[in-house]
Parts: sequence; structure tokens; C-alpha cells
Amino acid sequence: MTELRDDMTPFEAVTWYFHQVADRIGLDDQTRAVLASTYREIRVQIPLRRDNGTVETLFGYRVQHNGARGPYKGGVRYHPHADLDEVRALAALMTWKTALVEVPFGGAKGGITVDPSHLSAAELERMTRRFMAQVSYIVGVNRDIMAPDMNTNAQTMAWMMDAYGQRSGHSPGIVTGKPVALGGSLGREAATGRGVVMVLDEAVRDAGKRPEDLTMAIQGFGNVGSWTARLAAEQGYKIVAVSDVEGGVHNGGGFDIEKLLAHQRDTGSVVGTGEALGNDELLESDVDILVPAALGGVIREANADRIKARMIVEAANHPVTPLADQILAEKGVTILPDILANAGGVTVSYFEWTQNIQQFQWEERRVNDELGKHMRSAYGQVRNYAQANETDLRQAAFSIAVDRVAEAAHLRGYV
Ligand code: NAD
Repeated sequence: MTELRDDMTPFEAVTWYFHQVADRIGLDDQTRAVLASTYREIRVQIPLRRDNGTVETLFGYRVQHNGARGPYKGGVRYHPHADLDEVRALAALMTWKTALVEVPFGGAKGGITVDPSHLSAAELERMTRRFMAQVSYIVGVNRDIMAPDMNTNAQTMAWMMDAYGQRSGHSPGIVTGKPVALGGSLGREAATGRGVVMVLDEAVRDAGKRPEDLTMAIQGFGNVGSWTARLAAEQGYKIVAVSDVEGGVHNGGGFDIEKLLAHQRDTGSVVGTGEALGNDELLESDVDILVPAALGGVIREANADRIKARMIVEAANHPVTPLADQILAEKGVTILPDILANAGGVTVSYFEWTQNIQQFQWEERRVNDELGKHMRSAYGQVRNYAQANETDLRQAAFSIAVDRVAEAAHLRGYV
């Protein structure tokens, strides 16, 4: 097992959590070797013709981690720091996440190393179509299904679906998180944030607290952060700090989320809606609940000791490094781990895929009700496992998930 360091790469960190749990559940070495590594990885060259006629050479990735429980499933991220290692980590987290919330998928992830804020809409479309064409040999409605992640959205999915359809015929099930007009599911856009709040509500009730007595800080105000803010505010939580890539803002009296969203629509950022706050400062805010909903690795050995929140809800993927995880555990901070807290997105993606196969649309209420069943059931299983085994929620969540994937791998005869 890799030595525990704070500068572990994302895949080293996720693998470290995996081995910790493999030790706990007594996984044999052969199964461990299969589950600790990725099944297939592809790097593709994307020559992008810019609007000014020059060509920039970009690189994209798709990593399939494990498909024992069903088709590979996972989002695609456009980010300057997206690289093969990070995509591997995110793919592995998808394997554990889908197993934990009991949707019949494996785990995958994709990414392009690019800063999309420098690209026009036409450039984004050309890049997206080229990426999809390049990875089309290894994806498929029953093989590997894409979804949005950082800096990708319903429009990105529409371009991907169309590019894939040119090769393979109309295939709405090749992507989830697409526009409702193209077969997307009602409720998908809000699903990750809705799942975050559903799991948080359960944990708050277990702690004997009430939402209206609790303050919250949220890092990241994109799809996940803004929906978490909106739905948490509806439940009565007081959102006192939010941020995006431009910086953060603080309002001790609690933000009006609709006003925040309107300001963001007008200016592109939440900055300017309250007292200015740095993104690092936001993490150290004096709040009850901290919700990282942007990048990974933001809570590290260096700042873990300064975190004041008593509960961290990992809406982002891998926001806490393993060393920070240990420091926070010693401080008695409750962490709702990523593979549980942000699994609402993939759960509704499963519903979307199911609707596409059935060629039938569910009502939004049915989507949200079914989401609630999966999220509350997963939370209950994780809490009970943690109590019965005297461990934390991350260990419990990984233990349940790894056990399920190992069973499927054995039944298929992989090991
Ligand atoms: P998004 O692109 O919609 O939003 C990202 C937000 O983070 C934006 O507000 C952006 O300004 C902000 N941000 C970017 N860099 C930042 C920085 N350095 N400091 C502070 N804020 C920064 O992305 P998203 O889909 O909301 O994803 C956010 C996180 O949630 C990611 O970790 C992603 O993997 C995870 N996640 C997303 C989904 C989903 O359904 N979209 C599902 C599960 C997990």
C-alpha cells in the first residue's frame, strides 16, 4: 500500500481508501489486484480548429474502471488540470458510488485537458464532437454511458449524442444529463444537489438537530453547488457563505438564493453579493456545515486543523485528502463521503437511461421519489454499518460498495 502523504495524486488517494477497506473486509490479493486497477484507458488526440483558423492540439481521456455490475458510467470533465490520473480516480469513485446506491452500472470517467472559458461555443462544439468520435469505439448504450461533470452541461451532452448518432443511429441512451427535449429526464439537472440535501437531512435528523438552527458554507456555485444551495435553503438551512472560481462572499444573515442566482446570471459570478471572502477562507468559515462542491483535494493536511464546521458534506468528488480525513476524524468532524453524498446525479442518470430504453418519460415527482428511496436507503445502510463496525461513514460506504463489486466480479468469474 502507498505510504500516506498529503501530495498523493487523486488516484493514489482513492486507491489508498480502497486498500484500507480491502484490509478491513479481508479481500483476497487476486480480487484486490482486479479492483485496484482500471480495466481500460484511452487517450485521444483532439486537434481543435480555433475560430481564427489556427489548430490547437488537445488531449482527452476515457477511463473504464470496473464493469462487473453493469455498463461503465461516468461524467466528462473539461478542466486545465484534468489528466489521466484524475480521470482514473473519478472512474474508480463511480464504481464504488454506483454499487453503494444500487444502480446497475460500473464506473468510468472522461476528461479533456482544456480551459473551456477560453473557447467560443462553436469551438466547444467542435471539440466535443471530435472527442466523442474518438472515444466512440469503446462507448455504447450497453457499454459505457457519458454524463456532465465540471464545465460540461446538457448542451455538451446534446452534441455528444448527435456525434455518436451520426455513427450508430439515434441513441439517446449514450448520454445522460441531456436536454429534456432530446430525451433527458425531468429532475436530472437538480438531482445531485437534491441527493446531497436528502442525505444531509438524514444525518442532521440522526444528530438530533434541525435545519433552521444550522449555518452552511458552499464552495462552488455550478450545477451541484447552486442546486444544493437552493434546496437546502428551502429546507431551512441558513446559507452564509458561497463561492465560485472568481472568489467567495459572506452574509451572516443568510443569502437569498434566488437573488444570488440572478446576480450570477447577470455577471457570471456570485462575487459582489456580500462581504468578500477568499476560497480558502470559505473552507475555514465558522459554520455548522461545510459543502465543498467544486474541486478535489481542497481540504488538505495544511488547512484541516482550521476547519470549524462539525459536518462536511462531500458534494464534490474527493475534496478531502486521506491525511486531512484522519485529522478531521480526530477532531470529531462527521464527513458524509462523496460516493454517498453526490450519488444523486448518477442515480437519476440511471432513471434517464431506463426511460430512454423504455422510450417513456417519467413525471418529475416519480423521479424525485425514486431518488429519495435510493439515497435514504444508502444512507441508512452506511450509518448502520458504521455503527455496527465502529467505523466512520467513509469506511462504511467503501466497505459496502467494495463488497458488492467483489461479489459481482467473483460471480462473473473475473477472479
Ligand atoms: P460546474 O462546472 O457546474 O460547477 C463548478 C463550480 O465550481 C463553478 O461554480 C466554478 O466557478 C467553481 N469552481 C471552479 N474552480 C474553482 C476553484 N478553484 N475554487 C472555487 N470554486 C471553483 O460543475 P459541477 O457539475 O457542479 O461539479 C462540481 C463537483 O461536483 C465536481 O467535483 C464534480 O465531480 C462533482 N459532481 C458533479 C455531479 C453532476 O451531476 N454534475 C455529480 C456528482 C459529483
